Amino acid sequence: MTNTKTIAIVGAGQAGAQAAQSLRNEGYDGRLFLIGDEPQAPYQRPPLSKKYLSGEFEAERLALLPDKFYTDSAIDCLFGVRADNLDLDASEIQLSDGFKISYDQLLITTGSRSRALPIPGSHLEGVYALRSIADVDQLRPNVQSGQRVSIIGGGYIGLEVAAVARSLGLDVRVIEAADRIMARTAPEVVSRYFTDLHRSNGVAFELGAGVQSISRSEEGELSVATTAGTFASDWVLVGIGGQANVELGQAAGLTMDNGIAVDAHCQTSAANVFAAGDCTSFPSAKYGRRIRLESVQNAIDQAKVAALSLLGKGEAYDPVPWFWSDQYDTKFQIAGLSQFADEQVVRGDPASGSFAVAHLRDNKLISVDAINTPRDYMLARRMVPTTSEVDRAALADPTTPLKETIQTA
Ligand SMILES: Cc1cc2nc3c(=O)[nH]c(=O)nc-3n(C[C@H](O)[C@H](O)[C@H](O)COP(=O)(O)OP(=O)(O)OC[C@H]3O[C@@H](n4cnc5c(N)ncnc54)[C@H](O)[C@@H]3O)c2cc1C
Repeated sequence: MTNTKTIAIVGAGQAGAQAAQSLRNEGYDGRLFLIGDEPQAPYQRPPLSKKYLSGEFEAERLALLPDKFYTDSAIDCLFGVRADNLDLDASEIQLSDGFKISYDQLLITTGSRSRALPIPGSHLEGVYALRSIADVDQLRPNVQSGQRVSIIGGGYIGLEVAAVARSLGLDVRVIEAADRIMARTAPEVVSRYFTDLHRSNGVAFELGAGVQSISRSEEGELSVATTAGTFASDWVLVGIGGQANVELGQAAGLTMDNGIAVDAHCQTSAANVFAAGDCTSFPSAKYGRRIRLESVQNAIDQAKVAALSLLGKGEAYDPVPWFWSDQYDTKFQIAGLSQFADEQVVRGDPASGSFAVAHLRDNKLISVDAINTPRDYMLARRMVPTTSEVDRAALADPTTPLKETIQTA
């Protein structure tokens, strides 16, 4: 080791693991700490609500990097240890095991957590959230045929759990406050498609239903009281979105703006402190505003940029975000952010089980929702940043390849 510098990464998840790997790949040979409060080495979260929940994946398959990577790369792994306090003036982290770590540069990758449901009974036994391996291990014994589950929240995680639970023979009800599922992120035609898909698989929906309380009877049955009625359940899953883990940085005095505010180089308001992943918001030149994302793409790509910034190699982060969700045999892939669109063109017939929705703004393609149409998705990821004029009639025809419907700049 020729470098006497110390970099500390707080948060050992998708972004933390990527940053550690990128720092070593870029030739950083100083001291490198990776500190995480979960007992495991960094792992993938997407399978938690999919193949890990269904039992198709073992925990070992979730690991992002082999254990050998951390030893071979001389990374000081402190897992099962929480960073409790950050002293920016002293460049020091207070850990939950009583130790302190001094750093020259710090990267915060503390991710997000499940949003809590602020109603009576939300802390009862049998009411679960799904964010970690520990959460799934706790709820999985209940994922048994015949059990009745109420899922509060019709977003991606709730719907993925609904699909797994139905596939395993549970009695599933999804309770959603909005008048349609995935209302925050998907257009109406996509919400309708997934509602029909789940209904045809036997899921019951309560849409426009506000949850008021959860209680447990003497016989041990849970009751979920909503504005649409009261539903008996053996267990309840709360999936109402995520909340950035900002407290460590916030208490230290870093600037916040719907997450830890970073610039395009992942720098926070402190000179030697950077941040990446779910816990940040960053300025997007593409969308003309500051955004916070919770996705694997964002965690990986922002962590790569943060690693370069830590080493003084500049590269600005301004992605075309992408996401995916697996429900039954349906693959839903999203390129770009559709919230900022002013027009939609549907390619294909939703009833066929394979269609796409192109989202336009000022006659330019800004996002594509692809349902079992991976070619449209792959092309959209490449085309969204560079498209100019759109031929609407060609775009609406699914037999015309996406790249022939749009001129690229
Ligand atoms: C069930 C589920 C399914 C998902 N499915 C998809 C999907 O299909 N597609 C997709 O793109 N994204 C999906 N995501 C989102 C994706 O997994 C996250 O966006 C990604 O993990 C974010 O990476 P991160 O490193 O920012 O945070 P995380 O991976 O959450 O890592 C942050 C880590 O920091 C730890 N930490 C927090 N505070 C401290 C502290 N003070 N001290 C020490 N450690 C701390 C946390 O415990 C955690 O281990 C899913 C998420 C979940 C929960």
